[in-house]
Parts: sequence; C-alpha cells; structure tokens
Amino acid sequence: MIAFVDLKAQYLSIKDEINTAIFKVLDSTQFVLGNEVAALEEEFAAHCHADYSVAVNTGTSALHLALLAAGIGPGDEVITVPFTFVATVAAIDYTGAKTVFVDIDPVSYTIDVTKIEKAITPKTKAILPVHLYGQPADMDPIVEIARRHGLVVIEDAAQAHRAEYKGRRIGSIGDIGCFSFYPGKNLGAYGEGGIVVTSNPEYAQTIRMLRDWGQERKYHHVLKGYNYRMDGIQGAILRVKLRHLDAWTEARRAHAALYDQLLADSGLTTPAVMPYSHHVYHVYAVRTPQREKLQQHLHEQGIQTGIHYPIPVHLQPAYSDLGYKSGDFPHSELAAREVLSLPMYAELTSVQVRTVAETLQGILPGVTVS
Ligand SMILES: *Cc1c(COP(=O)(O)O)cnc(C)c1O
Repeated sequence: MIAFVDLKAQYLSIKDEINTAIFKVLDSTQFVLGNEVAALEEEFAAHCHADYSVAVNTGTSALHLALLAAGIGPGDEVITVPFTFVATVAAIDYTGAKTVFVDIDPVSYTIDVTKIEKAITPKTKAILPVHLYGQPADMDPIVEIARRHGLVVIEDAAQAHRAEYKGRRIGSIGDIGCFSFYPGKNLGAYGEGGIVVTSNPEYAQTIRMLRDWGQERKYHHVLKGYNYRMDGIQGAILRVKLRHLDAWTEARRAHAALYDQLLADSGLTTPAVMPYSHHVYHVYAVRTPQREKLQQHLHEQGIQTGIHYPIPVHLQPAYSDLGYKSGDFPHSELAAREVLSLPMYAELTSVQVRTVAETLQGILPGVTVS
C-alpha cells in the first residue's frame, strides 16, 4: 500500500522532539496562546520575511480575520478563483462580502492575471489569489493591478508554506498572507491551526484583537471579536516542525522531479513550474482525460490518490446564490474533471515513487521506469 499522505511516518521521524515539546506545554499549563505560540509567531514572521504574524485556530480563520482587518464587509466584492478549496470562498462569505470569480490559467492552475481587471467594479475591495498546490500565483501583476485600483491583496497561502515568487517568500508579497496548519498541509499541526502574516502594524494589531474577542486588554472589548486563538500545544509542535520545513520541502521537490522524469513520455500532463516560482508541491497533480480509469487502476494496486478538487466552487450547491452556472469558468471546470493527485509527502521514498510510475505503466505504456 502506498498512502497519499503518511502523517505517522513524519511523526516517527521527529517523535522525541515533539513529545518533549508537548510535555513542556503540559508542565507550563499554557494551553491557549502563551509563550510557545508567541515564539512561533516571531519565528514564522521571520520565516516569511514579514514584520508580524498572528497565530489562529485554522487557516479559514486566518482568511476571515485578514478580510475583516482589511475592512471588508457587506456590499463589498472580493476577487478570487473558483478552482480552490471551499474555505477560500467561505471566508469571504463570512464577512458578508460577495465573491467574484476569475478563471484560472490552465497551465499554472492559479488566477489568470489577464482577466482580473475585467472583474473589478466600484465595489471591489480585495484580490485573493490562491497559491494552489504549492505554486505561487503570478504576484507582480496582481499587486500592480491592486495598487492601481486601490485594492488589498490577501494571499491564500494555505498550500504553499516556504514557496517563493521570484526569490521572495510568499505570504509577504501581498498585504496579508494566510496559512493553514491543518495536519496534511506542508507544515501541519497535530490538530487545527493557522497563521496570518503581514508587515502592516495596523492589520496585525486588528487581527490580534479579533482572534481574542476583540480585546485590547483583558475584558476591554473594543471590537466584536472571535475565539480564534491557537492552542499552546499546537504552537510548540509547529515550532519543532518549522525547523524541518526546509528539508521536507526539498524532499517533496525531489519526489516531484523524479515523477516528472518517469512520467515525461507517459502522455500525462505533469505540473508546470512557472518561471517565477519555487514550487513546494503540496499536491503533485497530473492531468489526463482518463482520470477515473487511472485512479481506479492505482486504487486496485493499493496506491492512494486524491482529486483537488472535483467540483469548482462556483458549481457547488452551497454557493449557488453567487449566480454562476456551468460554462462560466471553462478552465476551472476542465481542470476539475482531469486532475489527479499522486502520493506526495516528504517521507515518501524514491522506491515508492518508482512503484507508482511502474503501476501507471499498466495503462500508460509510455511511462519509463529504468
Ligand atoms: C486548507 C485550505 C484552507 C483552509 O485551511 P483550514 O486550516 O483547513 O481552515 C484554505 N484555503 C486553501 C487553499 C486550503 O487548501
């Protein structure tokens, strides 16, 4: 059996460090926020080359508070893509603002920057690009368009820890960056977690208050806030894991390079790496019109795969109120029918990558496993 993601393999590789960090929090009884979370905030801001970060309980909360700090609410519009995890759109919806979709570029799977300006109206307040699969969106044109129209740029970096755009860490290229620490993400907690990154002191201060009941200090509520605080144990775990992120990212990139090589003549479309990007392969998605057949074949041979994502958000029943219909975003709709995510995690071995390729040879004779 080859798992799609093996969280146990990673835990076993750092078990002693993790267990020590958890027991330290238990001894300190700083179960919510506390020193470990504060230290994580400093280390993660430095990691992103940003001035501030604020740890929260999920990536969705990170997006929600980023949007609120940017002043977004009912009557406003936020531009994003339909080919993303639903949380991107849910967060916009929580603020009362309306999501306006722009299709993806079919090669990068990130927002088609040539279509953004046509979607801007007097109500538009922000652009929310998603660094899908771990590949940065084309940020320079996005920031340039935003500056020209007075819009805020909020990066959905939930899948792209440590990715780079033209040599700069993502999360600090727009005005605010939002990360998820869901266990399966490239940097994952042992429970839920998220973080907001910014170099704007006002945004940071507002987000810090909003995550903790809008308090300026204890029981002084200056804003209507939320309970979006990070657990102390998650903070401690994430500090340990952040130290391994470079090595884990390199391992993912090596697996991707091997898949690329073995599948080069397979007839599958392997992930395109844009010239501006340092891709961190949260997901290694190939593309084929025979997706269901491939997935079934791999499943029968004990190889787990995923589909990210089978239905674009504009066609989800929950968001039918946005008024979109089938055919509105052809690149997103076709990608949703054709993408297939192969096993990908740092602890995967090259033998396992070769086994996946060999198994694909059964239906794709062009796969070369020498
Ligand atoms: C995982 C994810 C989120 C939400 O993060 P949670 O921590 O699960 O709330 C948002 N956007 C994208 C693109 C994601 O992949």
